[in-house]
Amino acid sequence: MLDTLLNFAAHGLANAGWLTIALYLLITTQLTIFAVTLYLHRSQAHRGVDFHPVVAHVFRFWSWLGTGMVTKEWVAVHRKHHAHCETEQDPHSPQVEGIGKVFFEGAELYRVATANEADMEKYGRGTPDDWMERHVYSAHPILGVSLLAVIDLALFGVLGGAIWAVQMAWIPFWAAGFVNGIGHWWGYRNFETADTATNLTPWGVWIGGEELHNNHHAFPSSAKFALRKFEVDLGWVVIRGLEKLHLAKVLRVAPTLDVRPNVSLPDMLTLKALLTHRFEAMTDYYKNVIKPTVREQSDAERTRRFGAMTRRRLRRALANGGRWLDKNGKARMTAAIENRPRLQQINEYRARLAALMEQRRPESALAALQQWCREAEASGNRKLAEFAARLKRYSVAAHA
Ligand SMILES: [Zn+2]
Ligand SMILES: [Zn+2]
Repeated sequence: MLDTLLNFAAHGLANAGWLTIALYLLITTQLTIFAVTLYLHRSQAHRGVDFHPVVAHVFRFWSWLGTGMVTKEWVAVHRKHHAHCETEQDPHSPQVEGIGKVFFEGAELYRVATANEADMEKYGRGTPDDWMERHVYSAHPILGVSLLAVIDLALFGVLGGAIWAVQMAWIPFWAAGFVNGIGHWWGYRNFETADTATNLTPWGVWIGGEELHNNHHAFPSSAKFALRKFEVDLGWVVIRGLEKLHLAKVLRVAPTLDVRPNVSLPDMLTLKALLTHRFEAMTDYYKNVIKPTVREQSDAERTRRFGAMTRRRLRRALANGGRWLDKNGKARMTAAIENRPRLQQINEYRARLAALMEQRRPESALAALQQWCREAEASGNRKLAEFAARLKRYSVAAHA
């Protein structure tokens, strides 16, 4: 009897080797990642894709079993993050809370955010509210993860406890800490979005495509996160597979930018494309106007410093008009461009371009855009003129 018990504690029912255990961990944690990125995030929070009810329920069941998170709460916290990105209202902004806090205490920030019931109602609309939700998933969030603990212990004996701990830490670490923290702090940016979101790596494989967080903030309701040729979004691969089996329906995908030949004056098509691709336009502006102009200036002065700022810092600051600088940083930036008309010029043009995109009436926005292009082309800055000449030709690509 004692022998049987000891044997069970040591090996569980599965009597599994290391390889099997590693495989089990990989499959269950990846399933959890997919439940979060595909179901909670892309489908429920942003409505970019719809799943067959059975598939949707499998994801929902798994996120209950594997994470104990309630759909409505996750969706609400996340929608609030998009609505108030990098402000005091953002549930998890490294700019506001500090990177250390979001990285190490992301799960705690999530818990605090879900305690706000008014927010849960306001931002959690449209999430499941059926019998299972009310009586099982929302009512007993701990039951699911406890059940998984029992399964782990039964399969693998005492080792099951460690396996369970890894499973439980997966989302707090990779999603709350890694994506929400590092994804707003370090990486590359395709789009000059109004927040600090970054792409962590072009290959979104390990966290189901969530690595491409800058792309996601540029086009939040797009079911597809990979937007450059070299980028990979594993979540999108799964969506396409499910679509082939008629188990998923893609509702929204980010449009692509087209550039028409021969446009002499910006028209409504230009404006529409500019508004749709505003972040890409700002990135173009950064790459094709700000970077070369700052380089020319530094070559002409034979220095890599502009007052208290390095060339690199000044460049990054000009990319967004110094938006993320503190008071001292802003003062340093002002001092750096004060007596340099060309730098001041590209900074002003950037601000004017950003401002015209905020105009409410399309007619006034278009008039401002036409004026902007005319002046930019006559500005005497060749890079700025070239940018304006290309900007005029923007249009939204028709979808294949
Ligand atoms: Zn974000
Ligand atoms: Zn999102």
